[in-house]
Amino acid sequence: MSESFVIIGDGVAGSSAAETLRENAPDADITVITDEGEALYNRILIKEFAKGKLPEAPISIHDEEWYAERDIDLRLNTLVVDIDTDGHSVTSHQGDTYEYDKLLIATGGTPAQLPVDNSDAEGVHHFWTFEDARGIKADVEAADTGVIVGAGLLGIDFAAICGAQDVDANYLMRGNAWWRYALSEDGAEIIHDALRERGVTPVFDSGVDHFEVDDDGHVDSAIDPNGEEYDADFVGVAIGLDINTEILRGTGLEYDGQGIVVDEYMRTNLDDVYAAGDCTKFDDLILGEQAQNGAWGSAKAQGECAAKNMLDYGDDEFRWVSSYSITHFDFPFLSFGHPTMGDDSVERKYSDTEWRRLALKDGRIVGGVLIGDLAPQSAYKQLMREGTHVGNEKETLVEKSFSVDDLEAPVADD
Ligand SMILES: Cc1cc2nc3c(=O)[nH]c(=O)nc-3n(C[C@H](O)[C@H](O)[C@H](O)COP(=O)(O)OP(=O)(O)OC[C@H]3O[C@@H](n4cnc5c(N)ncnc54)[C@H](O)[C@@H]3O)c2cc1C
Repeated sequence: MSESFVIIGDGVAGSSAAETLRENAPDADITVITDEGEALYNRILIKEFAKGKLPEAPISIHDEEWYAERDIDLRLNTLVVDIDTDGHSVTSHQGDTYEYDKLLIATGGTPAQLPVDNSDAEGVHHFWTFEDARGIKADVEAADTGVIVGAGLLGIDFAAICGAQDVDANYLMRGNAWWRYALSEDGAEIIHDALRERGVTPVFDSGVDHFEVDDDGHVDSAIDPNGEEYDADFVGVAIGLDINTEILRGTGLEYDGQGIVVDEYMRTNLDDVYAAGDCTKFDDLILGEQAQNGAWGSAKAQGECAAKNMLDYGDDEFRWVSSYSITHFDFPFLSFGHPTMGDDSVERKYSDTEWRRLALKDGRIVGGVLIGDLAPQSAYKQLMREGTHVGNEKETLVEKSFSVDDLEAPVADD
């Protein structure tokens, strides 16, 4: 009998796993289940749609036919509510049961809600799905004023959307800089200036105490913890992702409070259950500890890796340097690896729009942020991948046109 695979989630992790399974197992039964109403689309590009810069069509990656042509059973609008790991089956909200020999959980996450009054008011948006983007676009186009909360990589998308849609917005941040765990004030100031140029005002040492609403329950303003009031017809909240844990309850699957724990082969603590993408906490072989990635390329690679190991455990280990770029501004921006981790760092500012910072752990690069000039990224990623000890040549690393050959005594990992 042919082996059966069930995949929960048709994001890039789930979809690329299905594709890899089909390529390598022509006779397998493959089912992909998603609670969304549309097949895989480019989640990275939905912000361009919300900005009004891209129509819907090019954002779609696969249509339903793509699955049919590959004999992959795609179930749209189907929420998995229960996993029976002993009985090897999952159950949907309609009560349908899908049996599996091997299961892949690729369920991503759900944006976290601000735990403040009226955070569920009309006009307060979170951003994850294409459906969210449609709602954001409609509301932001009608808005004059906006508030953004969440000084990270998704919050800045909201800010760019407000900028592109001529909304006069305040970006309320808790500390003194955007993404202060990865950037210093010097680096963040480049971002702050670019935001101001687009009509978005960064507000520091702020945040949201609560939202005020009008008689119709629509958000009217945000009140920050200092008592300042900021008018807002539109609010974008991006304070992090919660992994869907309800379906893990009672399964015996290991979850550490942040992600589903998997090894470097994407296998969970149960032999027949794998996980891939944003929902995992994986053995990061480069970092030497468990880590999480929240990036498209990494989720895709994890999906492919999981599929190979579901067919032949141990076939493919996950060894990956993640990248995440921002394309909202006139200058390029790239973060790679784990820029918020490490025990040491080195940084340099080259001009008003060019800056770099590398995070190091035990003398090795574990991540970084490059603004303005991305040319040295491959050198840094190579050193990171190879685990080269560079802690005593930190200043060389941030030379403007750094290349690996500039290092005097690099020591590769043993
Ligand atoms: C607005 C936005 C901009 C982004 N920009 C970038 C960027 O520029 N660069 C970058 O690298 N990354 C970016 N990302 C992050 C990137 O998109 C994610 O890391 C990636 O899509 C994660 O893929 P995934 O397959 O793990 O999860 P997801 O894409 O979240 O897919 C999981 C799927 O599972 C479904 N699901 C969940 N639970 C169930 C269930 N119980 N039953 C059925 N289905 C379920 C979900 O609805 C979803 O469709 C961005 C994300 C967003 C939202």
